[in-house]
Amino acid sequence: MTQPFREIQKERICPCGSGLSYGSCCRPRGIKWGTNAEGSLVKQIKLSDDTAEMLEEHLKQLEQDLGRPLQDDDLLFPELAAMDEDELTATIIKHLTGAGIDTAFIYAFQQTGLLITEENQERVPNADRSLWDQAVADYRAMQN
Ligand SMILES: [Zn+2]
Repeated sequence: MTQPFREIQKERICPCGSGLSYGSCCRPRGIKWGTNAEGSLVKQIKLSDDTAEMLEEHLKQLEQDLGRPLQDDDLLFPELAAMDEDELTATIIKHLTGAGIDTAFIYAFQQTGLLITEENQERVPNADRSLWDQAVADYRAMQN
């Protein structure tokens, strides 16, 4: 699970598509862009304390179920990996609807594949944010 990550230079144009330099765009908001062991561009987002705690619990439970320590090629969310994309989308929408989420946000999720909340919006790249805002605006326009 540990892979060499090389952060891109601060002066570089930010990969999120904002047109700003990385050092004044995603980096100060806790989104790290860099290359992985295969040389592909990836982003790392710092987890909030709550999320990190939940993830740690989840991994402990997984090791217990397996009866052994996790290995590099273990799937961390086997129940999600077993679903195809449509099932996954349907499952997420069911949870969102059940949680009483604004239908405009559910629409935006279907359109963009993103899920932007008040909690994570500061860590979302600007370009993704624009896509999301546009989808929400489109939905509101359709309702009028
Ligand atoms: Zn950026």
